[in-house]
Amino acid sequence: MRNVIRGVLLIAAAAAIAVVVACGRSSKPHVLFVGIDGATWDVMTPMIERGELPNFKALIERGVASPLRTFQPSLSPIIWTSIATGKTMDKHGITSFVHADDPNSPIRSNERRASAVWEILGDGDVRVGIVGWWLTWPAEHVNGFMVSSYAAIAAGLWKGSVYSGIPEQVYPARLNGDLEALIGREQARAADVSRDIFGALPPDYGNPIQQRVIFDTKSAALTDRIFFEATREFGKREEPDFLAVYWGAVDVASHRFWKYFRPTDLPFHVSTSDIAALKEVVPNSYRWADARLGELVAAAGPDTTVIVASDHGFHAETVAYATEDERSGGHEDARVDLPGILVAAGPGIRHADWRASPPARLPSVFDVTPTLLYIYGLPVAYDMDGTACLDLFDLEFVKTHKVEHIATYEDRAKSRRGSASADPGVRQIEEGIRNRMKSIGYLAPADNTQQPNDSNSPPPKVNGK
Ligand SMILES: [Zn+2]
Repeated sequence: MRNVIRGVLLIAAAAAIAVVVACGRSSKPHVLFVGIDGATWDVMTPMIERGELPNFKALIERGVASPLRTFQPSLSPIIWTSIATGKTMDKHGITSFVHADDPNSPIRSNERRASAVWEILGDGDVRVGIVGWWLTWPAEHVNGFMVSSYAAIAAGLWKGSVYSGIPEQVYPARLNGDLEALIGREQARAADVSRDIFGALPPDYGNPIQQRVIFDTKSAALTDRIFFEATREFGKREEPDFLAVYWGAVDVASHRFWKYFRPTDLPFHVSTSDIAALKEVVPNSYRWADARLGELVAAAGPDTTVIVASDHGFHAETVAYATEDERSGGHEDARVDLPGILVAAGPGIRHADWRASPPARLPSVFDVTPTLLYIYGLPVAYDMDGTACLDLFDLEFVKTHKVEHIATYEDRAKSRRGSASADPGVRQIEEGIRNRMKSIGYLAPADNTQQPNDSNSPPPKVNGK
């Protein structure tokens, strides 16, 4: 009799597994998160009104559009780590791009002191797919997959990317070959990415500084393309419940090309011929993000909650440590409130536009992780600095989904982070990166290793005041 029961149970278990395999996606909520560094309503709202960002428009028409409160210093690694942990930099421990004692050594994923949302979700049995997030190299051993972001600072490339030959860029390691193939394929059509952002700009256009910032922006756009393709390809194959990707070209383009986009914002020195050649670089970076967002939303399907966020806004800004040709936009001026953007749409999300009429409490970068945990029915930790933003959800969802709490997630073992270090072997690979970029026509004749004037490098003494 016992054997019969066991047999029945085995058949039932096999049937249950068959159902899961047949359906593919799990019964968990599905969330697509797209992080767009530096995206700002100030640029987007007029473009949306002119019909130039149709995919953002479609999300806003059925969901929420809001400013996203943020903080200073608005350095990308700090804020994106706060978005991923729900914590201030004192708690997560990321205060810079690089190690204080070695300016060429990028901070590694295993130096973060707080649990990231992908770790917490993974522990909660949610399958994750994370692509291109700041300071995620070496790739973390998540419940799902991760394509990390390696900042080849010694090669003059501050914005993280993936490069052929760098170890532990993707987890699980079985995706290594696919990632290498994807990098090669996208580098081979690098000219397409240039055209998306720069149109038919002649390859030798501009003075040496302009050539250098054109190179920076093309590199960032190519990276975004690779991250997009990895999100699409691995997302389709691995079917994570939570899929997240980060894009950086909007930030780089806005730092480098603001004065051609809005030449009267400040008393800029800018020629009419440069304006004619470069005024579309900033809008094109948004158009590119909108088109790729549309592809990801379509692939995700209607049962997916879509969340798009940026880490801060943007405005015209000159800095003492760089010329206008190098940098004419920014977000470091703490005197000005520069919230980022938040767009949310999908199951359970209400319809509201808070750009013109904000609610009593606007969501902040610290609320992103608590809100994601809430969607998955996981507790929000009391040691997080944000809360689940219930205002985003419709009444029915809030009635049926209670916010749970837990003291902390930091008492759990975190042994799942990669072990690679930026040792001399990796430095040698960085030399190869420079040569590779040159071979695809992405290295300007001017010096690309100048520091710390690159678009994402910290202004001098950012923490030393
Ligand atoms: Zn920036």
